[in-house]
Amino acid sequence: MDMPEPNSAILSRKAEIVARLRRVLPPSAVIDDPVETRAYECDALTAYRCPPLAAVLPSTTEEVSAVLRVCHEERVPVVPRGAGTSLAGGSMPTADAVILGVARMNDVLETDYDNRIIRVQTGRTNLSVSGAVEENDFFYAPDPSSQLACAIAGNIAMNSGGAHCLKYGVTTNNLMGVTMVMMDGEVVEIGGAHLDAGGLDLLGLICGSEGQLGVVTEATLRILRKPEGARPVLMGFDDNEVAGQCVSDIIKSGILPVAIEFMDRPCIRATEAFAGAGYPDCEALLIVEVEGSDAEIDAQLQRITAIARTHNPVELRESGSAEESAKIWLGRKSAFGAMGQINDYMCLDGTIPVSQLPYVLRRISEMTKEFGLDVGNVFHAGDGNMHPLILFDANKPGDLEKCEAFGAEILKLCVEVGGCLTGEHGVGIEKRDLMTTQYDPGDLDIQMAVKDVFDPQWLLNPAKVFPLASSEARRIAAE
Ligand SMILES: Cc1cc2nc3c(=O)[nH]c(=O)nc-3n(C[C@H](O)[C@H](O)[C@H](O)COP(=O)(O)OP(=O)(O)OC[C@H]3O[C@@H](n4cnc5c(N)ncnc54)[C@H](O)[C@@H]3O)c2cc1C
Repeated sequence: MDMPEPNSAILSRKAEIVARLRRVLPPSAVIDDPVETRAYECDALTAYRCPPLAAVLPSTTEEVSAVLRVCHEERVPVVPRGAGTSLAGGSMPTADAVILGVARMNDVLETDYDNRIIRVQTGRTNLSVSGAVEENDFFYAPDPSSQLACAIAGNIAMNSGGAHCLKYGVTTNNLMGVTMVMMDGEVVEIGGAHLDAGGLDLLGLICGSEGQLGVVTEATLRILRKPEGARPVLMGFDDNEVAGQCVSDIIKSGILPVAIEFMDRPCIRATEAFAGAGYPDCEALLIVEVEGSDAEIDAQLQRITAIARTHNPVELRESGSAEESAKIWLGRKSAFGAMGQINDYMCLDGTIPVSQLPYVLRRISEMTKEFGLDVGNVFHAGDGNMHPLILFDANKPGDLEKCEAFGAEILKLCVEVGGCLTGEHGVGIEKRDLMTTQYDPGDLDIQMAVKDVFDPQWLLNPAKVFPLASSEARRIAAE
């Protein structure tokens, strides 16, 4: 992975820069000891590492603003960081950058049940947003599998999704407003506690902008009343393509389940060994969940199981109790951990039109032979968001490079069939150099012109999202 050479002038001024940061933050909020900064050297894309110049952990928007003012004046790059669970290397530092972590900013600032909103500091974890309102039977819908750890900050920056986003939408559909600090320290409010602010949809621009435009410190989120009930059905098939066709048919029928999750045999076997969820040993497994009153659930599941039967499932198991539902979800929720027990893995995140699922699964299976690496497929099939997990051995010379080449081919295939490079994990450094597969130079230029407006010196989250060759002229001009 190519990264720009660190700016030696910044490296040589480290002590001075850290001293200035210490003047605007409490002592425990500035970390510059090389042993301690190692904690920030990577995110969940652990194949790439680089300790930052320093890390700062502010507690308020005002402190974030003060940090950014210092870094702006010193021309020091800043990498915003939530919980560091990005699978795209989105929060990986460069050696001349300050990590700005919002982990200490985790307060609930306001809860308004009448208007169904909650305002939080963005370091709050995703799951604890629901935790803050569950006593009153409310919840926050976007549910990344990493929700126990990941922060709302990263969710907004990556426009994260999750298993239940088929029905409720992803982060952008549940975000009402943000407080954001610009690179020069100016604090701006975008959106608010109401639908659709006047003027341009800047909130739509901020959500998914991967820390390129500003540091989001507070967020107003939509909360929803919990559904009366939910029930999953587990379906096993002896063929990946047939399972893919079944997903396509369910969506085509107009039913909107809350989730349709897919796992293939390597994932099923791994999770069975890891979690013992009682899954059948078959080629492909679907978990389809619907919500509503008992009568609504019965009616939807009747139609869904009728569609499944036309595809000759080897197993069709409707949950009969809360325990059975938990068991059906147990394997899916353990899938990443289970695959990680077998070997190192790289988790991809392309999207495709649902109708292309059978074809894409077949091509991936053919490619495993070409590249000699195994793949487990586990993903949000309802909205065509694929997560092939490519297994490789980080200690075996050449395996990582082979894995990257394989991953690139899968993502190119997603674009080729009408999908895109990323569904929910973002571009980061992982897909940065593939952006030219999806966008021509003119498209990229327009995207970079947006960054020029928000961050004219190109100091925020360097070397991410835009191919280095495409952004080189701008980066040099900004120095
Ligand atoms: C096991 C596992 C399962 C996962 N499952 C899912 C899933 O189901 N769905 C999904 O969408 N993702 C998933 N992810 C990916 C990851 O959890 C999400 O991308 C998440 O939103 C990252 O949040 P974070 O707080 O950890 O962000 P970080 O990793 O810290 O940062 C991610 C990006 O956000 C930017 N950023 C961070 N804070 C700010 C801020 N305050 N202002 C502006 N930009 C900021 C960073 O610069 C970086 O570009 C998974 C990851 C793991 C490890």
